[in-house]
Amino acid sequence: MPDQQTYHGSCHCGAVRYEAKSDPITQAMSCNCSMCRRKGTLLAFIPAADFTLETGESALADYQFNRQMIHHLFCRTCGVTSFARGVMPDGTPMVALNVRCIDEIDPETLTINRVDGKSF
Ligand SMILES: [Zn+2]
Repeated sequence: MPDQQTYHGSCHCGAVRYEAKSDPITQAMSCNCSMCRRKGTLLAFIPAADFTLETGESALADYQFNRQMIHHLFCRTCGVTSFARGVMPDGTPMVALNVRCIDEIDPETLTINRVDGKSF
């Protein structure tokens, strides 16, 4: 895909850093579930194969709730959630990027899609 871009994300303290390849990210999901509304994450989803954790696997703590479908990862040091791991409905591993943590993205410029995660 010619328009694939490379994005760089990190937690606040820098212990967790990643690279993500994706079509240009112009939209993000804002979810009202009990987790997202507290954290304020804005999410964009990519296949796990397009995600490279450059550093920080051992810095990550995992939190799961409800059906335990998603690994809500956060940095043990600074507490920031820069991405989460899960699977698509078809079973493909995916990563949910918190676009607020990505260097190349200004969240204020994105189209925000509101998702009623509370009702899932
Ligand atoms: Zn950190």
